[in-house]
Amino acid sequence: MAKYVYDFTEGNRNLKDLLGGKGANLAEMTNLGLPVPPGFTITTDACRHYLAAGVVPDGLEQEVAEHLDALEKQMGRRLGQADDPLLVSVRSGAKFSMPGMMETVLNIGLNDESVHGLAKQAGGNDRFAWDSYRRLIQMFGKTVLGIDGDLFEHALDALKGKRQDTDLDAGELQGLVETFKGIVHEQTGKDFPTDPREQMRLAVMAVFDSWNAPRAILYRRQERIPAELGTAVNIVAMVFGNVGNDSGTGVAFTRDPGTGRQGIYGDYLQNAQGEDVVAGIRNTIPLEELERIDKRSYDELLGIMETLENHYRDLCDIEFTIERGKLWMLQTRVGKRTAAAAFCIATQLVDQGLITIDEAVTRVTGDQLAQLMFPRFDGGADKKKIAKGMNASPGAAVGKAVFCSERAVELSEQGEDVILVRRETNPDDLAGMIAAKGILTSRGGKTSHAAVVARGMGKTCVCGAEELEVSTSEGRFTAPGGVVVSEGDVISIDGTSGEIYLGEVPVVDSAVVEYFEGAEPEDELVKAVDRIMSHADSVRRLGVRANADTPDDAARARRFGGQGIGLCRTEHMFLGERRQLVEDLVLASTDEARQAALDALEPLQKADFTEIFRAMDGNSVTIRLIDPPLHEFLPDIVDLSVKVATDGATDKDRKLLAAVKRLHEQNPMLGLRGVRLGLVIPGLFAMQVRAIAQAAKEVPGARPEIMIPLVAAVQELESVREEAAKILAETGVEALIGTMIEVPRAALTAAQIAEAAEFFSFGTNDLTQMTWGFSRDDVESAFFSRYLDQGIFGVSPFETLDREGVGRLIRIAVEEGRSTRPDLHLGICGEHGGDPDSVHFCHDVGLDYVSCSPFRIPIARLEAGRAALTDSDSDTR
Ligand code: ADP
Ligand code: MG
Ligand code: MG
Repeated sequence: MAKYVYDFTEGNRNLKDLLGGKGANLAEMTNLGLPVPPGFTITTDACRHYLAAGVVPDGLEQEVAEHLDALEKQMGRRLGQADDPLLVSVRSGAKFSMPGMMETVLNIGLNDESVHGLAKQAGGNDRFAWDSYRRLIQMFGKTVLGIDGDLFEHALDALKGKRQDTDLDAGELQGLVETFKGIVHEQTGKDFPTDPREQMRLAVMAVFDSWNAPRAILYRRQERIPAELGTAVNIVAMVFGNVGNDSGTGVAFTRDPGTGRQGIYGDYLQNAQGEDVVAGIRNTIPLEELERIDKRSYDELLGIMETLENHYRDLCDIEFTIERGKLWMLQTRVGKRTAAAAFCIATQLVDQGLITIDEAVTRVTGDQLAQLMFPRFDGGADKKKIAKGMNASPGAAVGKAVFCSERAVELSEQGEDVILVRRETNPDDLAGMIAAKGILTSRGGKTSHAAVVARGMGKTCVCGAEELEVSTSEGRFTAPGGVVVSEGDVISIDGTSGEIYLGEVPVVDSAVVEYFEGAEPEDELVKAVDRIMSHADSVRRLGVRANADTPDDAARARRFGGQGIGLCRTEHMFLGERRQLVEDLVLASTDEARQAALDALEPLQKADFTEIFRAMDGNSVTIRLIDPPLHEFLPDIVDLSVKVATDGATDKDRKLLAAVKRLHEQNPMLGLRGVRLGLVIPGLFAMQVRAIAQAAKEVPGARPEIMIPLVAAVQELESVREEAAKILAETGVEALIGTMIEVPRAALTAAQIAEAAEFFSFGTNDLTQMTWGFSRDDVESAFFSRYLDQGIFGVSPFETLDREGVGRLIRIAVEEGRSTRPDLHLGICGEHGGDPDSVHFCHDVGLDYVSCSPFRIPIARLEAGRAALTDSDSDTR
């Protein structure tokens, strides 16, 4: 028969799936011989059964009754027994801790009779007994009966007046119990249930039901916790921190969760019960002071904290209660910590001999490292907060407010720092977003255009600050309290917290970034990062390259540990003054004119490549031939039309307008771009290949790789390849020739394509667009938030690689490509290359390297190391 109930002596910390985190750890502490009040856990199995069938599973009530029996025998009291009651708490506890679920009901088993028995147990302490009873009705009323908790709070406040809860005497508390009972009757039409077993049964069901409370569902979606896990329920014999001043309750960490430093970190509250410490009903005292109040319990607690750290080999947080000088442990778990603490703790534990350096690498994450790389506001500085929005892209930015893209560009060209403020952004704001230090919007969520683009650029962004009234036409916004910010006024925005400040707040650069830039590690945190990164590098199998188009980016990429460039785009090499030449190219009506335009571009491109090869100093540079449609380089159709309609238009303007109209595409993303351009415009790719070859000849040790974008069929690649190979042979330069895999057909025919390609690089941005049929620019701002809310995906497939769909195509391409060409070199160059989860996927699927923006390189290095360490068969591959 199924077993649905486990005594604390039967469980252990590995049974979190079945017993929930709280239950598993209570069992673990019990088995360590620590002072845990006896109790038992109803499994998540029972909860799942109840939620599916609408009734508790057969045998559960019987099993609970047996365990309660045993508990009563052990305690020598019966639940709610009138003259000498056993009381219990009923506590929820899922595998992952989950705010939004029912939490806890204390003091179950009290009623109008047993309240006297409880007083007698405590040596005639009526005050304590009535205090416990009013707490029961309050908690039970709120969490089990669903009554608005404020009703109880207000009644309590009215009685207290200016006094503290401990000042209320027994008579007053007894009166409060009557008031609370009245509230229950009024709100539910029924009396407060006095039968102890009924109280317990109702509380257990309420815990089960709370799994599907709207708040819990919302939380699970956000945190990507599977909906089918269910929660366990813990029944624990009560111990009392509210008996008097020799009693109390507290919380503690085994070391500082903010910095990782060892020491005493915790809060204690005398004569209090349960949540009082965190609820802030009275001022807590620092845990150190417990030494003075109750030295024996204090010493015991410190000893237990050391036992727990050594046992869990990590920082733990704990909840404890002291009942008349006797210490009880009520909860522990591996504690949350800041990013900085995570790195420090991991290396401290290595030094203490508790974990290996391998394990230390698995104890920190790329996301934590990313947090440490953003600049932040000086914590001690004076700040005038004027509003708060969503923390869309972390970091700290200060600048003059500007309200349109053009102005942002203008002012930044004059050397000013600006914050671009918009109601919401759209693709036309791109230039302004690039020019700005930070972006602030009053509308849109974390998947709005502003948020997505800012994150992609690593730029600070606060979005959806709805308290702001932005008037772009008047060039100002109004914040609550009538604060008006006009163009040119300085503001500061915190993309990590979402806060917006008036005036300049001093910014502190990240010491971790300075270290990556070459500074010697000095403080503890940077030393910890250094040790962990070195080890991650020594164990990772994946190479890490950079997406870098300029010598600056290439140089930064190398400083940050990039082993070459995985994607060097060439389109920016056609911008600026060179647009003129692209116009000539498009307008050329004869072969000679076209060739003349290409000939003019060639030396300019060559110079670009020479610089990049120099910056990469002998590392591979994968150069992608031109990808976007040529009309992207031509003037705007509206501007041209206006110009042509008025006087003063030149003959060229008229021709350009005709060309723009001719080249117009309904879906440019699916139009004349990538390899298609190379096939349709004679000489274009040849010019680029020649420029690459000439540059490579000039820079000793240069290692170019030529990458053809948007190939869907091997025939496309073959004809480009032939031309390129000929040019390389003529110049005597060696370069790999390969392709991007970014069209589903390419992935599906990878076996053929690999015949003409020496490497594949997965272009996962396009591959995601085309696999889902999403036009990224359109869908992200239009309806992605809806998709996220509805749980269609837990995270945007543009952020984290969609393993099931896009990932399947990649697997196919890897297998088929390698079957044709076993030494096929494989990498990824979409934005996913710097996303932690996607890096793990790339490791699993057997790629050779990931390529990402220079700032993400350390994150990719770390995650590649973690992937190698958590992959048990990595060395058998
Ligand atoms: P949460 O999940 O919110 O931490 P808990 O189940 O841990 O909820 O309980 C809330 C509070 O009640 C905690 O401070 C806990 O220590 C206290 N508590 C729970 N069970 C008991 C008990 N049997 N005796 C005394 N205090 C208890
Ligand atoms: Mg707790
Ligand atoms: Mg692409």
